[in-house]
Amino acid sequence: MIEVSGLTKFYGDFPALRDVTFTVPKGEILAFLGPNGAGKSTTMKILTGYISPSAGSATVAGTDVIEHPLEVRRRIGYLPETTPLYYDMQVNEFLSFTARLRGIPASERPGRLGWVAEMCHLDTFWKRPIGVLSRGQKQRVGFAQAILHDPEVLILDEPTAGLDPNQILDVRALIRRFSQVKTIVLSTHILQEVDALSDHVIIVNEGRIVADTRAGELRREHGSLEQAFHVLTKGGAGGNGQRARAALPGTGGTDA
Ligand code: ADP
Repeated sequence: MIEVSGLTKFYGDFPALRDVTFTVPKGEILAFLGPNGAGKSTTMKILTGYISPSAGSATVAGTDVIEHPLEVRRRIGYLPETTPLYYDMQVNEFLSFTARLRGIPASERPGRLGWVAEMCHLDTFWKRPIGVLSRGQKQRVGFAQAILHDPEVLILDEPTAGLDPNQILDVRALIRRFSQVKTIVLSTHILQEVDALSDHVIIVNEGRIVADTRAGELRREHGSLEQAFHVLTKGGAGGNGQRARAALPGTGGTDA
């Protein structure tokens, strides 16, 4: 469903992504893990057609994201790290407005709005201005705008960042509900997110992939996800880090 090959992105002279290659089969949740600054958001922005790579290619559902960014955006629901919401609009107004922007026919809009209101549990604050909502409620509105056009693929950039524990459970439940029917890429630096949601894990560090595997494999090899993350993104303590670097060509191994 998603194929990424040799993606490289320079911001000026700075290489934010270096030769990133991976695939996500249809119906899978991929957890895209990495410390801050590893290149997760950059990858998400390329996948959603918001920025172009310096080199490499990416396709979503067979459509090239560089050649056909608008077509790709029709097939993708994107929840950016900070969702652009209009704080003075009511939730229902904002979502109607988004539905019009997305070209959803007028006859289908009430049905779609009803669907996202139910899926994302928006009913208790449906007519409230977005500006007065809690962070968790805003995140649910962001989620609703991402799925309004019923996309095949969801790209979620740190969807639980900054939420309290109850709100985190809420958003995870939402993601799980969608995982039955969608392909999902979820970026996070929270390891519990992997346990809660995903089996396929990619770890990025300093713009490179340092692991593309199953969560169970990482646990078997390193004892725990925490240890795997530590070793693969910081070089770890003692010999483990050395071995990890030796086994993974191209791993910088310097502190992030
Ligand atoms: P992550 O999402 O993993 O935290 P990002 O993809 O946001 O990482 O950033 C990767 C690296 O690229 C970071 O070092 C960041 O400072 C840098 N970067 C991101 N966006 C820009 C930009 N617009 N201009 C210059 N550098 C950027």
